Amino acid sequence: MKGLMQDYPLTLQHVLWRAQRLFDKKEIVSKREDHLHRYSYTDMTRRAARLANALQRLGAKPGDRVATLAWNNYRHLELYYAVPCMGAVLHTLNLRLFPDQLAYVIEDAEDKFLFVDKSLIPVLNQVAGRLPSVRKLVVLSDGGPLPEHQLGETLDYEELIGRESEDFAWPTLDEWSAAAMCYTSGTTGNPKGVVYSHRSQWLHAMAVMQVDTLRLGENETILPVVPMFHANSWGLPYACGMTGAKIIFPDRFMGDGQIILDLAEQEGATILGGVPTIWINLAGVMEKSGRRLPKVHTVICGGSAIPRSLMERMDRLGLRMLHAWGMTETSPIGSVGTVRSWVPADQELEARLRQGVPAAGVEIRIADLATGEELPWDGVAFGEIQCRGPWIASGYHNNADPGRLTEDGWFKTGDVASMTPDGYVVIVDRTKDVIKSGGEWISSVELENAIMAHPKVLEAAVIGLSHSKWSERPVAYVVAQPEFKDQVTADEIRDFLADKVARWWLPDEVRFIDELPKTSVGKFDKKVLRNQAQPIDEEVAQTAGAPAG
Ligand code: ADP
Repeated sequence: MKGLMQDYPLTLQHVLWRAQRLFDKKEIVSKREDHLHRYSYTDMTRRAARLANALQRLGAKPGDRVATLAWNNYRHLELYYAVPCMGAVLHTLNLRLFPDQLAYVIEDAEDKFLFVDKSLIPVLNQVAGRLPSVRKLVVLSDGGPLPEHQLGETLDYEELIGRESEDFAWPTLDEWSAAAMCYTSGTTGNPKGVVYSHRSQWLHAMAVMQVDTLRLGENETILPVVPMFHANSWGLPYACGMTGAKIIFPDRFMGDGQIILDLAEQEGATILGGVPTIWINLAGVMEKSGRRLPKVHTVICGGSAIPRSLMERMDRLGLRMLHAWGMTETSPIGSVGTVRSWVPADQELEARLRQGVPAAGVEIRIADLATGEELPWDGVAFGEIQCRGPWIASGYHNNADPGRLTEDGWFKTGDVASMTPDGYVVIVDRTKDVIKSGGEWISSVELENAIMAHPKVLEAAVIGLSHSKWSERPVAYVVAQPEFKDQVTADEIRDFLADKVARWWLPDEVRFIDELPKTSVGKFDKKVLRNQAQPIDEEVAQTAGAPAG
């Protein structure tokens, strides 16, 4: 049919075009060691063009992987724009990976160029001598001597781009070509590479801006505390380029509640984004100082469930949290916790604590863990979340972990949830952690939360261990609060749980340990717990039995 709409490629060059042409009056502010760096979006695009020239001179070809090991700052943003727009692939390295994992992902991605923040040279140095694919190493620095390292020759970013022109002939790109890649943090195995296309990033950026998603508009000022090296930084770098929202980058100070508060206040932040721990730090500082952030209307929070106590605490501080769910494989926006218009006021908090409704562009269903049958949205039945949409992965780089797509093309997320009749996702667990006892499922996450509500408990992780009669039974690993070390008993924990969970959910054993193993990003590493666990002693274990038992 003639006269249809144009075949216009959805590439990040459009975002670059907007940033360059429309937002010269809009600022990008970056925290440095002793000052704030400021420039406009247009300035950013000029330096991105210089960088593209430099990369081309160094021999970068279309499809080459260009890695970054960097915090949230303006140079990292320049890489976010220059690399994909010149046809190469931006690979953001997660600086919290263990050295072996870091070496693994660099090799798996075959990174040819690596840009590293000066402050992160010690992290990279841990894999010195193990970077066979890397041809050039470029240091992002404000000047001064480099920390000692064994990484060989390095180039200086400012010197490199300083020599180049501000004009670059951006090549015509296919919207299906790779723009960026990001590895999962490896909670359930080796990190796996997720490759984003130009098209997926474009559409994801459009979705992020929406009022019912992350609410980004030109009149907003956003402080992204979510790392630019993790889960695509929630797509914010490109959504910001689409809208021209003012950005405040915290650089390496993300975990410092005081600095986050100062930055948000001084620069007039209206939206903050980060994982729960960041907000726990900020809330502590605000409570102590009595300072408030009246301009902030939204605190986006994802990466793990928002504890009720945190949301209530933030409400008291005048900070309204917006819960979002997603993963590296979903770019990451999957669902967002906007309160639907018909939810009565007295049920609002409950609604906000859920993981939200599917974002426009994403379809979600839940599938029975045993049969794969689709389950009803009744708020009770729980199964694996499967999703599909233009920014949902269809597989991994180098075909790692094949078989994550169902036959009819839905991505199996590995997260377990129920869906309310209103379309809210309620995460209960991960498929690898949910416990099957006597044919029924027990949510390890719910049990952990119930145990962690005990005043003498600091942390708890629950795993399923095999049991001759019930197939699996829950065993809890508990770390006591330091002042209650050796002063809390298994019976005390079980009694505490008695009126909070079904009788057959009560852990067979409660084992006290000094510390829980954690993954590189601080999630409980149940893989390690499972590998080290002593079997259940069925003679003495207090099995409450399965539902029928
Ligand atoms: P990894 O899968 O390696 O841990 P990600 O950073 O991609 O790395 O983590 C995504 C996972 O984090 C999801 O699969 C889910 O289990 C968890 N998650 C993300 N957001 C939420 C949320 N709002 N509530 C509960 N869990 C969440």
